[in-house]
Amino acid sequence: MARAPLTAGSSSDPGPDRSCPCQSTPGSTSASISDALRKSSGYDLDLEKAMHLIQRSCARRVGLQAPEGLKRSLPALARQIEELTGAEVIISGDPCFGACDLDLRLAEQVDLMLHLGHAELGDGDPKTIFLEARMDCDLSSVARKAVPALREKRVGLATTIQHVHRLEESLEALREEGIEGVAGPAGGRIKHPGQVLGCSYSSVRALDVREFLFLGTGRFHPLGIALATGKRVVTADPLTGEVSEIDIDPMLRKRYAAICRAEGAKRFAILVSKKPGQSRMALARNLKARGEARGLEMFLVYLDNIEPDRLLNLGAQAAVSTACPRVALDDAAKYRIPILTPPEFEVLLGERVWEDCRFDEIED
Ligand code: SF4
Repeated sequence: MARAPLTAGSSSDPGPDRSCPCQSTPGSTSASISDALRKSSGYDLDLEKAMHLIQRSCARRVGLQAPEGLKRSLPALARQIEELTGAEVIISGDPCFGACDLDLRLAEQVDLMLHLGHAELGDGDPKTIFLEARMDCDLSSVARKAVPALREKRVGLATTIQHVHRLEESLEALREEGIEGVAGPAGGRIKHPGQVLGCSYSSVRALDVREFLFLGTGRFHPLGIALATGKRVVTADPLTGEVSEIDIDPMLRKRYAAICRAEGAKRFAILVSKKPGQSRMALARNLKARGEARGLEMFLVYLDNIEPDRLLNLGAQAAVSTACPRVALDDAAKYRIPILTPPEFEVLLGERVWEDCRFDEIED
């Protein structure tokens, strides 16, 4: 991952002819942008901190990057930053799927990047300010609602970055209901205790519990917890109030079927992501060598956004994705050929038994 210091003048050509913008002061203006952003997207972002950092660094060019859910707010934010700091702002127009997905090409053009929505992975990038998106959403009532669905008196608690700042209140609510909730540790690409990512479940794997309660939206993360730990998972959605138990069988059946479909394939593409936090070239090379040792035709494919039509003309009969685990696990139905995760490919090669097929996680 490219790194550059948090200083002015690191863009490749000189900025607009302005005096250093350090002298202007943020305050109520950035607070009002925060209010507007909360109204339009439902998320809180610490824009005041961002303004201070832009001004402290005397950045003359600032890059803005955000996932689709926050993009609508970027033009107004860009305008405000320009007015307040005098810096020129350039918005990244490409899709952004996570903190793994920094726009490095834009980062070369600017002095400072503001990455909205995600927590930094591991040590992050000193040239990039990560502004985590926090949803102001009560977790205690949905945690209480989940209590009848729990079987244990001690449960592991997990959530995603949008809710992690309110995990403490759900622990308190569970305590009042006679349940001891525990949040797993931060570490690696996990920034906060209790946080999980689609590509990392280290916080929950570290816990010695027999059951987990996931507080958040969507099925992928609680499914990941169940697959990564082998434990029972109850999921409670703070937006809809829905509580349910995760059933991993349909996913396991689909994954086993994908391995069976790939068994007849002779030509495999090994997909390697260009995104800095998803790129696992060493693993891809290793898988290629192991496939070739079994007489398979293997080739490496390096790409940014992994989409079905990018694979059409390559003639692969199956693929192994070393990119974000969601490509194989969440998007499989979009592809004509089976897409396996690296552990699933090991099952296909006969190096691992299906019962020992672990969830694919990205380790730093
Ligand atoms: S690799 Fe996938 S799951 Fe991990 S941070 Fe990136 S988009 Fe999210």
